[in-house]
Amino acid sequence: MSGGAEGRGAPRDRYDVAVLGAGCAGLSLLSRLGDRVSAVAFEPRTSFARDRTWCFFQTRPSGFDSAVSHSWPAWKVRLGGRELVRTARGVKYVHIASDDFYAEALRRIAREPAIELRLGCAATRVERDGSGFVVHAAGGSARASQVFDARPPVMTGPVPPGETRLLQHFKGLHVRADRDAFDPGVATLMDFDVSQRDGTAFVYALPFSSREALVEATWFSPSTLQDARYDEVLASWLRDRAGLSTWEVLHSERGVLPMTTESLGSDAIGGAVAIGLRGDCAKPSTGYAFLAIQRRSESIAAAVRAGRSPAPPLPRPARTRAVDRVFLNWLARNPSRGAELLFNLFEKVSPASLVRFLSDEGSPADDFAVMRCVPVAEFGLESARTLPRLLRGF
Ligand SMILES: Cc1cc2nc3c(=O)[nH]c(=O)nc-3n(C[C@H](O)[C@H](O)[C@H](O)COP(=O)(O)OP(=O)(O)OC[C@H]3O[C@@H](n4cnc5c(N)ncnc54)[C@H](O)[C@@H]3O)c2cc1C
Repeated sequence: MSGGAEGRGAPRDRYDVAVLGAGCAGLSLLSRLGDRVSAVAFEPRTSFARDRTWCFFQTRPSGFDSAVSHSWPAWKVRLGGRELVRTARGVKYVHIASDDFYAEALRRIAREPAIELRLGCAATRVERDGSGFVVHAAGGSARASQVFDARPPVMTGPVPPGETRLLQHFKGLHVRADRDAFDPGVATLMDFDVSQRDGTAFVYALPFSSREALVEATWFSPSTLQDARYDEVLASWLRDRAGLSTWEVLHSERGVLPMTTESLGSDAIGGAVAIGLRGDCAKPSTGYAFLAIQRRSESIAAAVRAGRSPAPPLPRPARTRAVDRVFLNWLARNPSRGAELLFNLFEKVSPASLVRFLSDEGSPADDFAVMRCVPVAEFGLESARTLPRLLRGF
């Protein structure tokens, strides 16, 4: 899909808003700005192909529900041969293929003549200009009153003292089998019955039909692995769990997501407001970001439409961030026991509470239920380490 045709806004002397990066966060924001706000977006890619899939527990409208292509009323986790199948009233686990999301966002943006998408243009520098900014990019510059930086965050520097950083890294294959092999009614969120030697590891499997599924080999660990390792785990899962000897690969995707207590937005360029992963939208304990990006886009767009500066980013409550910190610290210190901890969460916390926690909508009782699953002795130690932040959070 080419985005060139969609970027119809004409160049102006000055824009209300400039956006660096037209990925999930950039497009989510641009598509909500409406017809009274002028905007320009800089994006190095020249077309929008399928490069990822987004899933989340649907607890309320996301703003992009028309792009949902699959949903599952039940989900399961597996450890040591034990499987827990879970449901929660009124909740589905839903899937959006990125090409459907991009198409929908680009359609909405194309309806707004004051929004200009500059594809093939990487932003290089942002400078202050009196009351606003100048964005410099390959192929030209633009002046804007507000700048939002959605470029991917940099996660390669040293971890600041007192912070924890894991990566969620994965490779996924959308496969087609020549016979029935999957249960399309249940999404496998985490199958921990794979080797845990390189960190907390699991296979994630989204069955689209009895013969098609997206299967991802995933690790929570400090660094990524050789490509062959992801392929090895995927092949043995498809052989041993799905019972297949051959399969056709329709599509593949890779991801490296931050699971960190650090703030990733501090290096947004030239005083721009960081959004998306750079704006700390990824939940530290899961790496999931789609819903937080939608919520943040909605609140920024509402402020911009009302002629206000957006409030500083606070995508999730301080209490939840404190729980994420305890959880992530424990996971980083106990990689070989991560599977046990995560399985316990699904076993001991009610599905409705866990879904709310995972979706950043947890009440104090939900967050407490999650905290209780961190093994008691170490929980005390982790809490002591995190106590000051925790107290601020509650
Ligand atoms: C394969 C994959 C699967 C995922 N699955 C899920 C999921 O199931 N659920 C969930 O909640 N989250 C998921 N995520 C996490 C998260 O939702 C996505 O990473 C999401 O795309 C983040 O949005 P973003 O706008 O911050 O970054 P992106 O969508 O990556 O957008 C960043 C944009 O910045 C552009 N850019 C780069 N350099 C420049 C520059 N110099 N100037 C201007 N633009 C630049 C890039 O080309 C890109 O378009 C997944 C991520 C990946 C990679």
